[in-house]
Amino acid sequence: MAIVALSGWREWSSRLAVLRNAETDMANLARSVTQHADDTFELADTVLNMLVGQLELEGISPAAIGKIQTLLTRRKAANRIRAVFVYDETGRWLATSEPLDFAGLNNSDRDYFQHHRAVPERGTFIGHPVKSKSGGQWIITASRRFNHPDGRFAGVALTTIDVDYFLQFYRGFDVGQNGSIALAATDGVVLARSPDHGYTGRDLSSAPLFKKIRERPAADAYYFTSPLDGVRRLSFYQLSSRYPVLVVATESEDDVLAPWRGAALTRVAAVLGLTCGLAVAGLLLVHQLHQRQKMAAALVAKEADFRLLAEASGDMVMRIGVDGQILYASPSSARILGWAPNQLVDTSALAGINPADLARVEHTIAALKNGEAEEARIAYRTRHREKGEIWIEAALRITRSPQSGDINGVVAISRDVTEHKDLEKKLGALAISDGLTALANRRHFDERLEAEWDRARREGRPLSLLLMDVDHFKSFNDQYGHQAGDACLRSVAGVLAEQARRPADLAARYGGEEFALLLPNTDAGGCEQVGERIRQAIQDLGILHALNSPSKQVTLSIGGATHTSFGDKADCTSLIAAADKALYAAKESGRNRLVMSGQVIAWSSAIRA
Ligand code: GH3
Ligand code: MG
Ligand code: MG
Repeated sequence: MAIVALSGWREWSSRLAVLRNAETDMANLARSVTQHADDTFELADTVLNMLVGQLELEGISPAAIGKIQTLLTRRKAANRIRAVFVYDETGRWLATSEPLDFAGLNNSDRDYFQHHRAVPERGTFIGHPVKSKSGGQWIITASRRFNHPDGRFAGVALTTIDVDYFLQFYRGFDVGQNGSIALAATDGVVLARSPDHGYTGRDLSSAPLFKKIRERPAADAYYFTSPLDGVRRLSFYQLSSRYPVLVVATESEDDVLAPWRGAALTRVAAVLGLTCGLAVAGLLLVHQLHQRQKMAAALVAKEADFRLLAEASGDMVMRIGVDGQILYASPSSARILGWAPNQLVDTSALAGINPADLARVEHTIAALKNGEAEEARIAYRTRHREKGEIWIEAALRITRSPQSGDINGVVAISRDVTEHKDLEKKLGALAISDGLTALANRRHFDERLEAEWDRARREGRPLSLLLMDVDHFKSFNDQYGHQAGDACLRSVAGVLAEQARRPADLAARYGGEEFALLLPNTDAGGCEQVGERIRQAIQDLGILHALNSPSKQVTLSIGGATHTSFGDKADCTSLIAAADKALYAAKESGRNRLVMSGQVIAWSSAIRA
């Protein structure tokens, strides 16, 4: 718009400049044409002056007139002054430069004659154009009155100028097809106009130019639309400083502006074309910008959605770069690790991980980065800023660059599973322990026995087992009640747990009031020692058991067995069987004692026997 406006303004200025130039041209033209008219009238003036001087000096006696006639006849018809005439006070022709018989001709009807007769003023009077009585062509008259010596009106001296003389001069100027040059009297009557078009003698006093001619400056430009042909014209008028005439030079505005218009149209078309091109390009650009803005807004909204998902989640979401640095952490990190996201960003994702788990975590991440798997799940211990060690379970998934498809990091969604782990641990413990005594339960004992049996066989080490049974426990229950029985069993279990001193030793409740103590890597001697210690310790508890004679205290019978050579095909049940047999022997031989399996074999035949 600005470019179009600027170019419009520029064209308008150049249009004004063209008109100014034309005005100047017209002004110069009007000035020189006025000068021409002035010179012409001045010549007529000189002739009249001479003539009037002679007429007034010598009078109009036939001799004097004859002299003048001779002078006029001799005068060669000049270009400018067409003819010279002298009339007496009645309008009768006295002399003329024209070669014709003028006897009887009278010009008292002419305006100029009547003017001079009525007005005593002696200056030259320029009359309206008239048709020549002698030649029939349009002429302009310049006349003066001459007086008798007493000052009375004596007649008129007259010179005529052919309108055509002016027209010939005017035709020499190019004012275009619709232009014109006109010489007019200040009262509005056209003296000469080129092109003529029958304007000569026409009264234009009602035209705006002539209405207030006296108030106007001596020369000026003005524009008007001709009432005759409707053509808008640019004019310049110049008033003569010496004679009551003026010159109007006009040119059609269209003619003046035609060359400018052609060039301006071309320029405007070029500018419009260019700006249209610009506008189209601009619109395309704006469209693209809109599109881009929309895409950006959609992206922001999508990111906000994802952020919401990440940030509203109780789980901690982390983005980890290929270098292992944290690129993003969701707000849950404050709760899960005790560190705000901004404290975590740009730190190592592996910081704080328990050294025991670190290698495993590193291995998992390396496998992901190598492309061995797309995702992995891993649990590890790490440090909470305040709570100390916690368990984290993390789901890891690799991310790829949308452009190249290369692995560019890992997303980890982690949660605190410490409570879960604790519970798991508790459940695990519950699953393998006995509810009443907190010793290992039978199932766990069986598993461990089998495992220790295999290990002992592999390593060629001895494996010992003690089986224990509370003496006369049925009657203890009967005597003191079931609850007291339970308490008694817990006390016995306490002793067993205390006596199972090596880490590999396993004390278990084998069933009812029967207990077992598995002693890996223990030979028969050691086994016997432990068994004896237990028996003694139970007795030392001093729990009253009135029906258990002779001690009247709770006592244990213990059967021990040790397996040293595993070359045979025997399995662990043989160890149990041996220990059981020994226990049976202990019962049989009076209770509150330890019997080792070797002793059993010696006695078994005796017992069987
Ligand atoms: P013996 O000296 O021959 O072993 O005699 P005993 O009475 O101990 O013999 P038995 O094996 O027949 O009896 C075991 C009793 O132990 C039976 C039962 O009342 C009791 N008992 C088994 N399990 C529990 C238990 O969990 N709590 C209590 N209070 N008593 C139990
Ligand atoms: Mg029993
Ligand atoms: Mg018993």
